[in-house]
Amino acid sequence: MTYAITQSCCTDASCISVCPVNCIHPTPNEPDFGTTDRLYIDPRTCIGCGACADACPVDAVFPIDELTGEMSVHVDINRERFSEIPAEHPWDRPQFPRSLPTHAAAPSVAVVGTGPAAGYLVQSLLRSTDAEITLIDRMTTPGGLIKFGVAPDHPSTKQIEHTFATSYKHPRVRMHLGVEVGRTVSHAELTEHHNAVVYAVGAPGHRTLGLPGEELPGTLAARDFVGWCNGHPDIPADAVELSSERVVIVGNGNVALDAARLLLSDPDELVGTPIADHALSALRKSEVREVVLLARRGPEHAAFTRSEWVGIQQRLKGRIVVDGHGGAAESIASAEDGSTAALLRELPVEDVVWDRAPGEDRRLVLRFSSAPQEVVGDQQVRALRVGDRPGSRDLGTGMVLWSVGSRGVQIPQLPFDEATGVIPNTGGRVEPGTYVVGWAKRGAAGGIGANRACALETIDSLIDDATAGRLHHASKDAKSFAKLLRSRSRR
Ligand SMILES: Cc1cc2nc3c(=O)[nH]c(=O)nc-3n(C[C@H](O)[C@H](O)[C@H](O)COP(=O)(O)OP(=O)(O)OC[C@H]3O[C@@H](n4cnc5c(N)ncnc54)[C@H](O)[C@@H]3O)c2cc1C
Ligand code: SF4
Ligand code: SF4
Repeated sequence: MTYAITQSCCTDASCISVCPVNCIHPTPNEPDFGTTDRLYIDPRTCIGCGACADACPVDAVFPIDELTGEMSVHVDINRERFSEIPAEHPWDRPQFPRSLPTHAAAPSVAVVGTGPAAGYLVQSLLRSTDAEITLIDRMTTPGGLIKFGVAPDHPSTKQIEHTFATSYKHPRVRMHLGVEVGRTVSHAELTEHHNAVVYAVGAPGHRTLGLPGEELPGTLAARDFVGWCNGHPDIPADAVELSSERVVIVGNGNVALDAARLLLSDPDELVGTPIADHALSALRKSEVREVVLLARRGPEHAAFTRSEWVGIQQRLKGRIVVDGHGGAAESIASAEDGSTAALLRELPVEDVVWDRAPGEDRRLVLRFSSAPQEVVGDQQVRALRVGDRPGSRDLGTGMVLWSVGSRGVQIPQLPFDEATGVIPNTGGRVEPGTYVVGWAKRGAAGGIGANRACALETIDSLIDDATAGRLHHASKDAKSFAKLLRSRSRR
């Protein structure tokens, strides 16, 4: 029985190295690895050993006979990927994890952040060095965006948390939660107590469009809406009011799709997921009947991935339409086979009448080639004004969600590139002894799995510096660091 990879794959490539017949692709050395949103199993060569399913941290791999009903689509998706590729796959050059030479002393390493980048980094650091690790997070719950970003109705993706939690209990790891670097402790204090400091602080800031009215009550980042559903302690239970019949989401990437799916789902389908009680009860009383995904560019530039699209289509079953505005139908019809826009071919196209209230059935409207110009309202959002040849038009709404990206924020005493929103680095090295990994290193792009290769690169730089004796000469140890934190928390 062959196996197939399904929607929750986060492309961390853990399965590739355990496959005895090299039938999982693309591999990290193949050109489309960086752009694919999932990996695929070649059914012609898979021998059904199941090793990939055991290695997968998000439970994305199944024997094909278990993929029935809606899940059966993944059997075709895996098979189709290889339809024009020879069944003989050349093997990549083997790669072996670096380790610290035995003559180098065990370094003490502080890792700031407990999201996926920190998770992969700590896992590999424990395997390839005898480092003592101090793990710090400003939140009182570890997990970063796995906990507060990944949508609550993606339980298999959230499962990766358990894989990382195993290393947090390792005897060489000490964890300090509720500690913010730059507020509770400084970078200088970290380097005083550790030989190396690795920043895995993500990209907690929001990008904005700088439009008039952007801060009116009723506007929110889509990421914060998902955080509210996840019970993020910084987002109050009453931060979201679902009294508008129509919600407009600006952007059409995966986070926009997450927000739309949560807003339009039958709340009963969310029972049993880790959704916060306040969010489930607000969604039960929600007045929202129409969600509009607004994109500045045409369908050929749609930013969501195929896996997310398959997920929302299955959830909303026939309740998705394309607004005919801007020649959307023609662009979709002429889209290249296999492209994201081609996924929209089955959808009905309708000239939406925006002056009319949304109908009774909850639905998702995709509107392309429409640039937001202004949020209209006095005390509260009343409409989003958008470009509409030859002038502009108001889409009546009481709630606008921004999904135009995240950016890093500066940590005091560390360099920061305002233009890109990242901590400047070369291969993860900020300077010898100080490193960065994950979204803080590369910018806010890529899913959970992309952080695995990113962490390996940063560890390589750290091992180079440790081998060459370039790490910080910490004058105090991790125990005295714990004492310092205790004195701060008493205060
Ligand atoms: C809403 C949303 C949904 C997503 N859903 C998916 C999905 O379903 N699948 C997928 O593959 N990818 C998903 N992603 C992308 C994925 O979450 C990222 O690739 C990943 O989280 C980046 O990891 P990170 O560790 O760099 O950052 P983060 O996960 O953000 O972790 C950063 C950590 O650093 C801590 N921190 C920040 N500043 C400080 C400080 N000064 N002091 C101490 N601690 C600090 C934070 O509290 C946090 O715990 C999603 C992203 C978003 C925004
Ligand atoms: S079941 Fe075995 S042979 Fe098939 S893809 Fe997984 S690891 Fe490879
Ligand atoms: S999540 Fe990782 S291990 Fe699981 S199928 Fe995708 S690449 Fe393989």
